[in-house]
Amino acid sequence: MAFYQRPKSPRTLLLTTALVCALALLLGPDAAAAQDPTATPPPFGDGTVVIYFLDHQFLPAEEVALLRSEVSAIFEEAGLTMEWVIADSPRRDLNPNELRLIILPSDGTRWFHGPTNVIGIAPHDDAGTGKNCFVFYRQAIWFRQQAVFRCREAIQARTEAQIRGVEIDPFIESYAPADCGDYLPALTALIVARAAAHEMVHILLNKLDHSAGGLMRNSFNIGDWFTQDNSLFRLDANEIQQLRLRLGGFPNDR
Ligand SMILES: [Zn+2]
Repeated sequence: MAFYQRPKSPRTLLLTTALVCALALLLGPDAAAAQDPTATPPPFGDGTVVIYFLDHQFLPAEEVALLRSEVSAIFEEAGLTMEWVIADSPRRDLNPNELRLIILPSDGTRWFHGPTNVIGIAPHDDAGTGKNCFVFYRQAIWFRQQAVFRCREAIQARTEAQIRGVEIDPFIESYAPADCGDYLPALTALIVARAAAHEMVHILLNKLDHSAGGLMRNSFNIGDWFTQDNSLFRLDANEIQQLRLRLGGFPNDR
């Protein structure tokens, strides 16, 4: 990516845009101009979204495959097909159905001042969102690590209860279910994928606000990762409709 390889990059501007977006990520809709559905232009394209995937973390192939699969599953609900272009990006303005997904080895804290638990950002200015979706890989690792700690504590509490022959505290079940370990191997890829998909929706819909639930809620919780309930990380009906209208996604009733 040009702007952190280029010594004279407009760092101040970058920090400013990142800051505004990071606050929007955590605090909600204040910065967002509400999207007027009647202003939606005719669909662009045929339901294909092109992702220029720039992986500065050098992820292993299995992890990339997992995250691609999850991102595709999320957008499939809107009838959209993801087309991945690896390690390349055209030097031109990107079309409405194109964006860059950039995985950074950073924890993001040098990019903005403020909350330190932001996994992804989609910088924007007064004209709306840009075309770059950044995911801070170290935050995904941190997030997974909290899940590991929680799972280990719960396992320990269950084991101790069994040894002492007492009932397991019901709190433990909500803290981390007995099968929490099953979710851990794939977790980093899922966190990256869901954070990326969240930022992609901001970009594709030029939307800065958040929804009450699902993928576009303003933050994810550790406990959300110990469930097979994918609806916690899926689009709502309104978002699906907007994506279809904007990008020509086909109806998908599965
Ligand atoms: Zn957001």
